[in-house]
Formats: sequence, C-alpha cells, structure tokens
Amino acid sequence: MIKKLNKNEIIDFVFKTPEYYNLSKQESLNRIGFDSSIFPVEYVQDFYANKVFSEPTDSEINKLIPAIKQADLIVDKIMNRIGINKKLDWNIGKINNGFDWNYPQTREEVIFLPEYFFDNPDSKILAHEKIHIYQRKFPKIFDEIYKSWGLKKIKLNEKEKQSIYEYNLSDRLIKNPDTTNFDKWVYPIGNDYYILPVYIINSNGKPTNVGFKLDLKNRDGNMYFTSDLSAIYDRYNSKQIDHPNEIFACSETNNIDF
Ligand SMILES: [Zn+2]
Repeated sequence: MIKKLNKNEIIDFVFKTPEYYNLSKQESLNRIGFDSSIFPVEYVQDFYANKVFSEPTDSEINKLIPAIKQADLIVDKIMNRIGINKKLDWNIGKINNGFDWNYPQTREEVIFLPEYFFDNPDSKILAHEKIHIYQRKFPKIFDEIYKSWGLKKIKLNEKEKQSIYEYNLSDRLIKNPDTTNFDKWVYPIGNDYYILPVYIINSNGKPTNVGFKLDLKNRDGNMYFTSDLSAIYDRYNSKQIDHPNEIFACSETNNIDF
C-alpha cells in the first residue's frame, strides 16, 4: 500500500522523533540554512515540520507509482533471499526544494523524497530506501548478515567518546537519517584493529566519511582519526559505508538484474 503523510501526520511524526533533529552547527547550516545548535530541539522540529517537509500532492504520488511497482519487485527478491516474506507499506513525505541536500532519506517507517524526485523517480533509489525500513523492522536478521561479514557491533565507552571529542569535530558531525537509530558497527582492518566510520562536513559543505581506528582487543580508550577509508570502500564495493545498512542497501540494489 502507498500512503502519503498529510500535514498533521508530518507534524506528529516530527515531534515524536526528536533523535533526528539534534544537528551539529555545520550540519544544520548546510541542511537548513541556519545554526540550529543554539536553539532548542523543538525549534528545529518545528522548522522541519513546517518548512522542510510537506505533504506530497496526489499527482506527485501518482507519478511515483510505476517506479514503486518496480522497486517492490526488487525489494521482494532481495528480502525473499534473506528469509523475509512480509510486505511493508510505503509511507511517503516530501522534502521541499533546497533542504537536506535534496537527498532521499528514511526516518523510522517514513521515506522522505526531495521535490525533484517526483518528476524523475528512480526505482533503485526507492528500493534502497525501502530496504532501510525493513532493516528497522527486522534488525536481528540484518545483524546476523553483518556479523557474517566480520563486522562487530560495539558501544563506545566514556574514554573512547572523550578521545573522539578531542579531535574537535563535533561542530562538523553529521547524522545520516537512514542510520540514525541504529547501532555502531566497526569494520576489521587486521591485527584486532577496527574502524568506526563517521560522517562529517568537508570544506565544500558536503558529507564525507572519515573514521576512527580502535584496538578492539585492548580497548585502551584511544580512537585514532583516519581519513583513509579506501580499504572499506574497496572491500564492500559501495559508495556509502557509514553503516552496514547502507552497504547492504547500496550493494544489493546495484547488483540486482532487472
Ligand atoms: Zn541509505
């Protein structure tokens, strides 16, 4: 079923999901045009509910239908292969032009699409976003897949958090809505060392991945900054690597034949 969020549903949704609106300084400047870090989170939520997001029109939804049908075929094929047979609804909201880099994204069970996308829908992007909804619904199944890739799910301890903080990146950190409410995964690079990828804003105002290396055997509290994530990009053949859910969504939708 395809359902669009109306104005009131968007407002309700935004106010029940504050975890998405606690933005860093550079992130908010680039996503929404002002430094939201000096405002309470409710102010940012109000801005998202009334300025950034809106209700898609009926004609916009109609333009998506052929691509959604194609995306359903892609997603069903992938989900069947990993043992998920349940069909989930499409809940669609619109991102007004010029916000959030005009990136399609998911928050909880809702897919938010930028204005341009309704005129130029892409079934693989829709499938990618829909996979994120499945990942939220069936976390155990996906956790097992990522463990089989050699990844480990960790919680940072206070020393490790402090170590990251000391690199003075907190103004530039970005949350990827697609992965905001998921756990932290680290990627093996040999000798018990693992990398935790992090998104930051680069000097061009665009999101870029950097990482922190840690010794998982000793957990001595040190997190070593690195901007070289080429080993991870090469191994997983994915343009997004900040969370295994992105790797899965990117690589599966790129590799599928239709
Ligand atoms: Zn994604």
